Amino acid sequence: MSISQIARTISESATLKLNEIAAILRDKGDPVIHLGGGEPKSKAPVEALVSAAGLLNTGEVRYTPADGIPALKQAIIRYTDDFYGRLVEPENVMASGGAKQAVMVALQAILNPQEEVIFPCPYWVSYPEMVKLCGAIPVPVKPEDGTFYPRLHDLEERLNSYTKAVIVNSPANPTGAMFSERFIADVVEFCEKRGLYLIMDDIYHRLLFDGRKRINCYKYAKDLSENSRLIVVNGVSKQYAMTGFRIGWAVANKKLIEVMTNIQGHQTSGPSVVLQRAAVGALNGVQSGVDNLRLTLENNRNVMVEQLNTFEGVKVSRPDGTFYCFPDFSHYNKDSTKLSEFLLKKVQVVTVPGVEFGMEGFLRLSYCGSIKDITEGIERMKWALDPNSPNELYIGDRKLIRDWT
Ligand code: PMP
Repeated sequence: MSISQIARTISESATLKLNEIAAILRDKGDPVIHLGGGEPKSKAPVEALVSAAGLLNTGEVRYTPADGIPALKQAIIRYTDDFYGRLVEPENVMASGGAKQAVMVALQAILNPQEEVIFPCPYWVSYPEMVKLCGAIPVPVKPEDGTFYPRLHDLEERLNSYTKAVIVNSPANPTGAMFSERFIADVVEFCEKRGLYLIMDDIYHRLLFDGRKRINCYKYAKDLSENSRLIVVNGVSKQYAMTGFRIGWAVANKKLIEVMTNIQGHQTSGPSVVLQRAAVGALNGVQSGVDNLRLTLENNRNVMVEQLNTFEGVKVSRPDGTFYCFPDFSHYNKDSTKLSEFLLKKVQVVTVPGVEFGMEGFLRLSYCGSIKDITEGIERMKWALDPNSPNELYIGDRKLIRDWT
């Protein structure tokens, strides 16, 4: 089969593939514990459901403007004012099919083939593939000090005449690390000075723990005119537990939003109007669900980290936010794909290999599920990995026998 050169470089989304594997095993009746997921388990806000149902009941479900319905744009404008203290206009806003599409369309709007995009490593699995889809070159950067917290000089070292953009996601998938205020301020200044686009993927910015305060990138921008190259991306998926609704957005200068809207208009048109209505409901509704989710996740994080600390061979960096933890399991196996496969096969726990995020030897574990899933999942992992474990483990009435060392 003849496929394009670009298509040949694109790999399957590891996280989506694992969701499928977990679903197939569950359907077979296997007692799978999914610690690989990327979505909260709470229900979507009732306002979102009522708002979408209201439109569905009219039976009039039509195309929308490619950049979103005015009511959603207004809700995004209010969100930007509330959380960033920045009042933008409708022409500065584009609604998308998830934050994923917002990032993708932004990259398509700014990148020429061979140009480079820098982002900290480990990174969200889709960044390199999205950059490659534009014919451009991903430049992941590991912090020199071996932590998950980059500093400006880590990025500066990779700057060259091809560099076009930087992507920052904080708190980050897969580590849960919230980058320092100093770093955000430095990156904003650096991008302004060098004329680079800066995509701030703020999808987890309300899911912070231990009393941490959100960092507002606009605070450090000197140029807030229509020449600004700052693109802020967000969406309803994570904060409102609305992953299946597929609504995200970008806020940027008017010219860029116009170009992005043209691209999106030809690719997919505007997102589904039913789902846009749902997003309006969530954004304008009671916000206590977000705080409840944040508190639940913080508690789940505590439980997971505490349990991981009982492993002799695991090094854990305590997440500052999100619902991910990225421990170092290289003591047990340096090949994270093999380790992840082993855990799935032997104790039916789904994890995501760190190599998918650019770091071998690590596993991404999610704590967005129930406490029961977290504790049982980690216990099973410990049983499988600790050579001093008893020979047998019961999962319900199934008896597992260790046939490995
Ligand atoms: N950015 C990051 C860092 C993510 O982790 C995700 C979802 N996994 C997205 C963007 C995309 O979210 P959405 O569901 O809004 O497309």
